[in-house]
Amino acid sequence: MYWKINRIQFPVYNLGPGKRLAIWVQGCSLACKGCINPELWTENGGKNIEIASLASSILTIKNHFDGITITGGEPFEQYNALVAFGSFIKMKSILNILVYSGFTLEELTKKFPDKLFMNSLDYLIDGRFERDFAVSDNIRGSSNQNFYTFEGGKSVKDNNQFFNGKWSLNVTKANQIFMAGVPKKDDMNSLIGYLKDSGIKLDL
Ligand code: SF4
Repeated sequence: MYWKINRIQFPVYNLGPGKRLAIWVQGCSLACKGCINPELWTENGGKNIEIASLASSILTIKNHFDGITITGGEPFEQYNALVAFGSFIKMKSILNILVYSGFTLEELTKKFPDKLFMNSLDYLIDGRFERDFAVSDNIRGSSNQNFYTFEGGKSVKDNNQFFNGKWSLNVTKANQIFMAGVPKKDDMNSLIGYLKDSGIKLDL
């Protein structure tokens, strides 16, 4: 089974508890206004990755991080791949898995009545990004979104989890810079101003 992925970053010190490996999936049809990853909307980008071999590779370094974050893009628009990957990781490790979805938990339980995702994932941050309700707690993008923990096939809501106030800039092997984490409202302007004062001009 294949999974369409845009990029994988390790380590990431945000987007969930502890030191993490983060996966950005390709493709999202929800088109939230103000989305920070519009390049991930199209299904034409990214690469098809074989799930068993990806999970096996990740497991070879499992002792170096605490968990995996899956974001995008919309992970639940590749539901079978998401559940297969999560189940594989859960079977072979104690790594926790956190997933961001633009769908609400209510929508997900209607779309996927098997609720298999509640057994193959540990945490969910749900709901569209709503620009008018943007928040600065660095793990949720907007206050309509909720943080859920899945335990024994059931969900528990707790919006006070893991808000560590960090985000990072990462550089790929192709020298592309991308952001991991949820910036506060004026963080990008502060960064651009700081770089400008240091003589560095960003070509955005
Ligand atoms: S669900 Fe996420 S990736 Fe999709 S448009 Fe909304 S913010 Fe962007």
